[in-house]
Amino acid sequence: MERLRAFLQENKKVTKTFDLLPGSTRFVLGRLKRIRSDSEAKLYVPKDGDQVCIQGNQRQVDFAEELLQQVLFVEYGSIILKISSQLVGEIVGKNGVVIQSIKSAREVDIQFSEPANGGWVTSQISGKKEDCTAASAEIIQRLQNYELVSLQISSSLVGLVIGKGGANKAFKCGLQIREDTQSNPWIISGPRDDVEEFLRRLQKKFSVPVLGGLDTYRFACPDCGEDFPEERCVLKHIRQRACRACSCAGECGAYYADKASCQKHEAWCPWVKRCPGCHAAFPSEAELAKHVSRKACKARSCRGCRKIFTDIPAAELHQQSCEQYAEKMRDAEATMLCHSQQCQSE
Ligand SMILES: [Zn+2]
Ligand SMILES: [Zn+2]
Ligand SMILES: [Zn+2]
Ligand SMILES: [Zn+2]
Repeated sequence: MERLRAFLQENKKVTKTFDLLPGSTRFVLGRLKRIRSDSEAKLYVPKDGDQVCIQGNQRQVDFAEELLQQVLFVEYGSIILKISSQLVGEIVGKNGVVIQSIKSAREVDIQFSEPANGGWVTSQISGKKEDCTAASAEIIQRLQNYELVSLQISSSLVGLVIGKGGANKAFKCGLQIREDTQSNPWIISGPRDDVEEFLRRLQKKFSVPVLGGLDTYRFACPDCGEDFPEERCVLKHIRQRACRACSCAGECGAYYADKASCQKHEAWCPWVKRCPGCHAAFPSEAELAKHVSRKACKARSCRGCRKIFTDIPAAELHQQSCEQYAEKMRDAEATMLCHSQQCQSE
């Protein structure tokens, strides 16, 4: 009977769907073969591409799901980098040759979305976490060869500065110049040296005031889209709980657009220290130890080796066989004995 039940269990087919994170489909697809052979489950991505279907018996499906979670919430990462729409062409390159080289050097995917406002193109860099960081660093390094400057050009000077149809020979050096309709200054962009040379000549000839250099890129929050000059500022913004985005309780630096995804990550993240008593997550062993010593929940630590257990009975059971605990108790007894002898001799 037992054997029959086991046989039926082994042969009962189950189907489960697994939700992917936006932008992660390609990354997961690249790892399906390995998951298939490790779990022996059938896996496929239906047309719309934001889910994985898992089929097999319960054991195979559970194992495949576990492997998918590790791929999606430990290996995979993404960075949202806004790039100035004036300069995004330099990052893409002719026929996409520059962006292709950045992508293939590290196996990342980079998706651009249409500029919504303020002259930014949003790019989502996705792949292995360290590859995303390296790819964004390369994009930034390339952008540092360019400059974006805003100028206040009075309407009476515009014609002279730009020339008819932008054909002013004196200033033509491959720069882009356009009117920023929002607040009426003009924006000049191009290779750093050319922009500086252009500004020098402009100053000399027309004494046009330069309003200042503009950011060529910004890191954005995956939930609210607010942007910052550095990625660590995004993390700070998320840690302040400014929007729905959520960061890992451990110190791995991972962050997600929503809490549910973040919790799935925390379940696998080696940086997260979890209390066996209440399952709360802590950024370090020290923080967890503090929580347990405060007796904040039913978890207790061994008074000898400091190992943490679910509750008092579990800790006491361990203490019965813990060398360090026994030693500590002997020391304590010896001290007590010594004190009492002293008392008697006085
Ligand atoms: Zn946000
Ligand atoms: Zn983490
Ligand atoms: Zn606890
Ligand atoms: Zn112990």
